[in-house]
Amino acid sequence: MKKQYIVGNWKMNQDLESIKSFFADLDLSESSCETWISPQALHIQTLVNDSPKTLQVGGQNICEATSGAYTGETSAKALKDMGATFCLIGHSERRSLFQEDDDLLNKKVHQALSCGLKVIFCVGETLQERNQGITESVIKSQLIEGLEAIGPAQIANDTLLIAYEPVWAIGTGEVATPEQAQAIHHFIRNTLAFDLDWRDKQVPLLYGGSVKPGNAEGLLCQKDIDGALVGGASLKATDYSRLASIASSLQKN
Ligand code: PEP
Repeated sequence: MKKQYIVGNWKMNQDLESIKSFFADLDLSESSCETWISPQALHIQTLVNDSPKTLQVGGQNICEATSGAYTGETSAKALKDMGATFCLIGHSERRSLFQEDDDLLNKKVHQALSCGLKVIFCVGETLQERNQGITESVIKSQLIEGLEAIGPAQIANDTLLIAYEPVWAIGTGEVATPEQAQAIHHFIRNTLAFDLDWRDKQVPLLYGGSVKPGNAEGLLCQKDIDGALVGGASLKATDYSRLASIASSLQKN
């Protein structure tokens, strides 16, 4: 069976009280898909202790270095020690607000994988780039540079996932059409196969950008879409539960 993933990106939201009520309201009884959430780093251990055991907990960012004089940073090893199993790398907010470029992101991907964290590597074009007709070349270079020197041998099962998140659809309420998203996911699949030479690897591809229960099914049923990276809607337990049950019902053979 081809798995589906619902990954929540809580960004810098939630506090201990709202986390408690989120898990009181969460209902994954109808879900068999992968359910992952990345809270703020300081809340990782709370989620690891208090969330359903089927839920995987991850980080939103790591330092590219292993350890040392990097005041304020969080190492991949520390996330792993807290029970995180994965980390987002290259989210558009990290790229734009914190000037993270492909070279730095590539170091972070290597660091995460070497510490045994799975990676969700995010790519996506801005509205300006889409309007200029350069969406594919932007995404190709984000993939080739961000994933440089990651050999196929380092990627087993879902060790590395790609999230396609058009920047113009993140937090805007404007969602890519299923056809637009499918076309880019297909392009990403081909880039991984032929440019990175990962032909025989099954890399899960997630769509992100204003996914909600009302628009999820049309996106998730596309051939090359294996799940969703969800911001705003993942903060509400009812929406998250609903997304997980939609994704579970669509798990493909
Ligand atoms: C995100 O931040 O990764 C995201 C997809 O946000 P939203 O679902 O709110 O657009």
